[in-house]
Amino acid sequence: MIYLDHNATTPLHPGVFEAMLPYLKEHQGNPSSLYRPGRTAKAAIENARGRIADRLGCSPREIVFTSGGTEADNLALRGAARALKDRGTHIVTSGVEHHAVLHTCRALADDGFQVTYLPVGENGQVDPDDVARSFTPRTILASIMLANNETGVINPVEEIAEVAAKRGVLFHTDAVQALGKIPLHVATLGADLATFSGHKIYGPKGSGFLYLKHGTPLAPVTTGGRHEFGLRAGTENVAAIVGLAEAVVLVCDAVENEANRLEKLRSRLEDGIVQRLSSVRLNGSAARRVPNTSNFSFRGVDGESIVIALDIEGICVSTGSACSTGDPEPSHVLLAMGLSGRDAQGAIRVSLGKDTTETDIDVTVEKIAQVVGRLRAVSSVE
Ligand code: PLP
Repeated sequence: MIYLDHNATTPLHPGVFEAMLPYLKEHQGNPSSLYRPGRTAKAAIENARGRIADRLGCSPREIVFTSGGTEADNLALRGAARALKDRGTHIVTSGVEHHAVLHTCRALADDGFQVTYLPVGENGQVDPDDVARSFTPRTILASIMLANNETGVINPVEEIAEVAAKRGVLFHTDAVQALGKIPLHVATLGADLATFSGHKIYGPKGSGFLYLKHGTPLAPVTTGGRHEFGLRAGTENVAAIVGLAEAVVLVCDAVENEANRLEKLRSRLEDGIVQRLSSVRLNGSAARRVPNTSNFSFRGVDGESIVIALDIEGICVSTGSACSTGDPEPSHVLLAMGLSGRDAQGAIRVSLGKDTTETDIDVTVEKIAQVVGRLRAVSSVE
């Protein structure tokens, strides 16, 4: 099998598995318990927090563990909105965010908040000037993702953070698809809140964290015990947290070499496809992108048919976000970039990872060329 859907999820790194094992087999204490097994579990969590903070350039107190990216996005948006609702009720985001942000904004709108969804340019990026223009005296929060999960397009988040800071607006960025793909330090990003997920970086599923800059107002979303500085009630998943920290360390330490390697492989893929097939669009390629992601539109074919045909050949790619599988609507990200419904419907995402080889790429180019050629020959789509 050739697995090229690393933006959907990644396989567990063997080193991560090893790091987790003692906390599944031996150290089973509740981290909130006072006796020794409890203290061992608690120490493992605090050690994990410290290792993550060290790699991201922040203080351990600024890391709040969650059950993944979706929960961290929810905590950031709902938590900030609740904490600041007496100051204002306007929130700014973009039309290309992950559903974890978009649907949370929708829920906040149902609760009486006003949400502005900013457009993106043809290249898929949010313009910092648009962000500045959208602010009103009632704006409390802006949430703009760092790297898009479907196209890999990187937003000018540092500039947006500056605009927000100048106007006293809290700034959140969903950095799930950026960690491990580009060098990343939260201090240089300038965000007040940032979301991260474990299973996109060879860590366990159901793990993640929110970076919360010291002093940022946030109300808890779940209520219960005093876990995670009172911001996220619930007994911690100790093994997952330990694995998550190991994954963060491994990807951050490898990021520069790996980014170069992936960029070369991606060029090989994109050049190969463009040479072999006509009427191909490389969505988002005019902007800076994370180095592992390609998004192609093949005129005259349906993306889902390509995915199914490649699956039969033993190659895993996707039409876009894994969370949208089964959704007959074309990608909201590609439509927001100005693609026609037809071009958006013909899109596939190929996302490379740490085990991807040149041979994988060459086989994939060949198979995509064959599959698209075959589908086009029988297609009724213009
Ligand atoms: N944000 C982005 C940009 C993502 O790509 C994803 C996962 O697809 C998430 C958030 C959700 O993360 P998780 O699967 O850990 O809930």
